[in-house]
Amino acid sequence: MQGPRSQYPTFRSDPGTAYVSELRSRPALAALLGRAVIAEQLRGTAALPTFFRISSGPGWALAGDAGHHKDPVIARGIADAFRDADLLASAVIDGWHGDLEVALARYGHQRDRCAIPLSDANLGIARLDMPTGKLGTALTQMTALEHALDDPAAISH
Ligand SMILES: Cc1cc2nc3c(=O)[nH]c(=O)nc-3n(C[C@H](O)[C@H](O)[C@H](O)COP(=O)(O)OP(=O)(O)OC[C@H]3O[C@@H](n4cnc5c(N)ncnc54)[C@H](O)[C@@H]3O)c2cc1C
Repeated sequence: MQGPRSQYPTFRSDPGTAYVSELRSRPALAALLGRAVIAEQLRGTAALPTFFRISSGPGWALAGDAGHHKDPVIARGIADAFRDADLLASAVIDGWHGDLEVALARYGHQRDRCAIPLSDANLGIARLDMPTGKLGTALTQMTALEHALDDPAAISH
């Protein structure tokens, strides 16, 4: 469950009550929940920073959340981490017997080509303050962007 940051103090003061009442305020979910009880301790965070780090240096490289992080609202972090791992592995193979630094720099360039547009689009959605119609448009645009950037041709140079 994800909500506006302004609601965080309310959730934090009594997470169990806030969580259940939020779920039960949605008729479709309330019907599914029936008499369900919370079986485990709830965990939450307000620490979801957006950042980009330099992707590599002499003897090291960063992939996934270590290299760049964004709000999880579009559920894209796992795909991005796999993409980074894939691109990084290819860069290491390419550069192993040649110029590894150049290959790793290319990896960083490819990562940024994919991750920066998605991260920018994600920021608007993560504010959770868009009217429904605008949110629908933003999500459609995000999906098109994801498809375009998941095309190997888009990141091959
Ligand atoms: C609340 C929330 C919901 C999310 N929902 C989704 C979702 O629905 N879909 C989605 O795609 N993404 C989601 N994400 C994002 C997703 O979880 C991350 O983007 C993804 O897990 C990043 O993978 P990673 O391998 O880069 O990092 P991680 O999954 O964080 O893996 C890094 C691992 O390294 C370990 N580690 C750290 N330091 C060291 C060290 N010094 N030595 C050894 N090991 C170390 C950590 O313990 C961890 O196991 C969500 C994130 C949050 C916070």
